Amino acid sequence: MANKNVYFFGNGKADGDAKMKLVLGGKGANLAEMTNLGIPVPPGFTISTDVCAAYYENKNHYPKGIKEEVEAGLKKLEGVMKKKLGDPSDPLLVSVRSGAAVSMPGMMDTILNLGMSDKSVKGLAAKTGNPRFAWDAYRRLIQMYGDVVLGVDHDHFESALHAVKKSKNIELDTDLTASDLEKLVDEYKRIVKKDTGKDFPQDPIDQLWGAINAVFGSWMCDRAIKYRKIEDIKGLKGTAVNIQSMVFGNFGDDSGTGVCFSRDPSTGVNEFYGEYLMNAQGEDVVAGIRTPERISTLEKKNPAIYKQLVGIKNKLEKYFKDMQDMEFTVQQGVLYILQTRNGKRAGTASVRCAVDMVAEGLIDKNTAIMRVTPGHLDQLLHPMIDTKSAKQAKALTKGLNASPGAATGRIVFNAKDAEAWSARGEKVLLVRKETSPEDIGGMVVSQGILTSTGGMTSHAAVVARGMGTPCVAGAKSVLVGNDSTVDIGGKMYKEGDWITIDGSSGEVFEGKLPLVAPAISKDMNTFLKWCDDVRATSVRGKIKGFAVRTNADQPEDAKRAFDFGAQGIGLCRTEHMFFDKDKLIHFRAMIVAETEAERKELLKKILPLQQKDFLGIFKAMEGRPVTIRLLDPPLHEFVPHTKEEIAELAAHLNESEEKLTAKIGTLVESNPMLGHRGCRLAVTYPEIYDMQVEAIALAAVECAKQKIPVKPEIMIPIVVTARELKLLRPNAEKILDKVFTAAGVKVPVSIGTMIEVPRAALRSGHISHYADFFSFGTNDLTQMTFAFSRDDVASFLPIYLEKNVLDVDPFKTIDEDGVGGLIEFAIKEGRNVKPDLKIGICGEHGGDPTTIDFCYRVGLSYVSCSPFRVPLARLAGAQAVINNTGKNIKGGDAAKTGKPATAKVKGSKKPAKGDKSMPVTSGKKPAAKKAAKKPAAKKTAAKKPAAKKAVKKPAAKKTAAKKPAAKKAVKKPAAKKTAAKKPAAKKTVAKKPAAI
Ligand code: PEP
Ligand code: MG
Repeated sequence: MANKNVYFFGNGKADGDAKMKLVLGGKGANLAEMTNLGIPVPPGFTISTDVCAAYYENKNHYPKGIKEEVEAGLKKLEGVMKKKLGDPSDPLLVSVRSGAAVSMPGMMDTILNLGMSDKSVKGLAAKTGNPRFAWDAYRRLIQMYGDVVLGVDHDHFESALHAVKKSKNIELDTDLTASDLEKLVDEYKRIVKKDTGKDFPQDPIDQLWGAINAVFGSWMCDRAIKYRKIEDIKGLKGTAVNIQSMVFGNFGDDSGTGVCFSRDPSTGVNEFYGEYLMNAQGEDVVAGIRTPERISTLEKKNPAIYKQLVGIKNKLEKYFKDMQDMEFTVQQGVLYILQTRNGKRAGTASVRCAVDMVAEGLIDKNTAIMRVTPGHLDQLLHPMIDTKSAKQAKALTKGLNASPGAATGRIVFNAKDAEAWSARGEKVLLVRKETSPEDIGGMVVSQGILTSTGGMTSHAAVVARGMGTPCVAGAKSVLVGNDSTVDIGGKMYKEGDWITIDGSSGEVFEGKLPLVAPAISKDMNTFLKWCDDVRATSVRGKIKGFAVRTNADQPEDAKRAFDFGAQGIGLCRTEHMFFDKDKLIHFRAMIVAETEAERKELLKKILPLQQKDFLGIFKAMEGRPVTIRLLDPPLHEFVPHTKEEIAELAAHLNESEEKLTAKIGTLVESNPMLGHRGCRLAVTYPEIYDMQVEAIALAAVECAKQKIPVKPEIMIPIVVTARELKLLRPNAEKILDKVFTAAGVKVPVSIGTMIEVPRAALRSGHISHYADFFSFGTNDLTQMTFAFSRDDVASFLPIYLEKNVLDVDPFKTIDEDGVGGLIEFAIKEGRNVKPDLKIGICGEHGGDPTTIDFCYRVGLSYVSCSPFRVPLARLAGAQAVINNTGKNIKGGDAAKTGKPATAKVKGSKKPAKGDKSMPVTSGKKPAAKKAAKKPAAKKTAAKKPAAKKAVKKPAAKKTAAKKPAAKKAVKKPAAKKTAAKKPAAKKTVAKKPAAI
């Protein structure tokens, strides 16, 4: 632990500064910096985060010397303030606040007014001449300290407060008199004694250590842990503790407190924004108990303070070069700043601030790009209420537009229910009087949040904005009953009823209104163009640029993705086209056809329909590359399952239902995802891919004739060996040639493959000889590397994550060590053979920011993701470029350094001996160079025991007969065992020729 653990700030000088966030926490570091900048900050000191780390390491004991250091800090503070903590005649009062390096609003503990006691309350009353203020300060301390430090149920205090107000028939706390508050203090002390068996501590030093313990303790409280998990906050030492002399906003009508932002945190508009309450303490504003006033009204009420505040916010924004979120207090006409931090903002505001600040010369474009998070952009792509419905629907009420975007869901009244309902798959909308940090779990799972009290800086508003969840706050005519009903604008609703909120307008509607995707705004467009420029100009050795494509299989999706800035299609899953009702019946008929001739006849009916689909997609993409994957899923996914479907197909085929059912039975596979799918289908039934390639070629011809630019790429899935491509590629080329020759048109078409099976990754050097490009299908690659079924993983993955067996869901973020190792190996081997090989990713991971960074580092040419994630990927890709510029990454980075860092990759002609990701193969295999000269397939066949299964097929037979080695391999016990154990496999081989 460092020697110095307590850092003082006050009297225009501080021990620390803004750069010390890791040690002092964000709050402590900025208090120090503000002090150095001459901004009026109440003096105090910060106990460093190292102490928090040591406290937990020592099983909740402080390391030696801390007590003395803290007490020395207190002495210094007392010297500056010329008062003693808790002095009976004129007490120094302090706040004790948490503050980690990353802001966690409201998640940890705070205690105000520390130093109040039975004696000092009287001294404070006499000194200030304001007994009401003194008793109010004391009752607040007991309430807060009782709750946070002593663990007394908060509701006990609330009920006592409520009872006094009720007995006096008053609504506001401010209407309580000094003697009401004195009685309340007695009642509060009684509650503490009853609940804890002990008196409320009167010694200020005892109070201080109790508070410090509680703040350090709150670092590991459930809600803080949950928040860090949700926000992915890692690697911090703990919280710091800030002990600061109190200033009071509840000193009377010339006092007040507020929260303000240097720009609007919802919209990003560059105008001073905030709210305040007169005669109140900060907790009143944040907790949403009273609805505060807008900051603009302060200009009229107290122009001098307003002017000073504006000056400070300008200074701070200029200094920190970012939008600031500040807390201030005015005590008897004197302004103090209690905190400043970079403001949390909604997605709209994030983009607007970034664009404006570049225009203002405050930051450069790269800083702007790094400042907007992919989550911010994601928020902007949240649905809005369909304009037509919004016009027709009448709003029940209107509150504050606290967090933009629209949401629709079923009403729940508390966080626990929100979590339970959402676990059942329900979409919920949390409706509460106000939210508090305990609600975090429920807020996360809610589509939207509606509160009846609280302003734009209330807990609900701040947290919802941070999470990108739509929120309407402070909707006064939302009257929440006893957790089972709510009156919204005079109409009663109960739990489970649907409502819709618009967090951009503040409106609340009855029912489930249709939501639509938003368009890209002008600011976002400007911003994303900067991102595109960064990606386009990046150079990693031979790889120029880092593109973003989309996964789309319908013309409308392609169009949307194009509008969102996709530079091509990275994956068009053709099977989705077969699910279209028109095609499905023909496709089903084709599957159950008896002969090749019959199948071909039926495929002819599908051909023009597929051709039309391809044409639509080519047109939508205006000449960008379109990667079309030929049929991938097992045929059994298409067969009719229900009685009605079977009857429909039987009628269509004019065949008996019994006979058809029997045929369907022969298509069932025990492990279809490891079965007869992808290119395996084309090996057994070439006519299916033939039809698809013909449809692609015909659509390309049509485009060419209409002078529409077109760039098709044919992608063959589930390849495991180069020999599959060696067999299938010429088929495709033949058909392309036939169509183009007949039409007198030539369109360049590349033919590549997916790498989505571990074996393909390991054999990619060989495979690359037959592929113009690779695309990593990381969904299957993850599934097969982990042996976690994509469809069933939910049954155990949450427990793996909870028990830290895995850090993240490997289907969301690439597993860099395992799956990533295979990817890196495959890239290296592929580019050993073809240095320019275009390689992308089209699994779901292609839209995940962490994975995008990995993809850039390992040298992928592009990522491909679903249309709605395209803008986010454009940003994450640019951030990856900026993050890795100048670093010695595997994919190379010559953009700034001028060094073709991929030289390493290019030069690695030999397989990496002892490569961690492939210890056996890479050590043994002759790798790419050899493979380039020889028909690699032959050699492989000689070694592999797969022959036995294949003996029944004529083609395989031939191979097996030729290769004595294969026979030998059959004798291997493992191979035998598998074959013997699996009657299903035998059956499958036997039944295949009957019907496909
Ligand atoms: C993949 O496996 O990553 C992939 C894109 O293919 P699919 O999800 O269609 O299996
Ligand atoms: Mg796949």
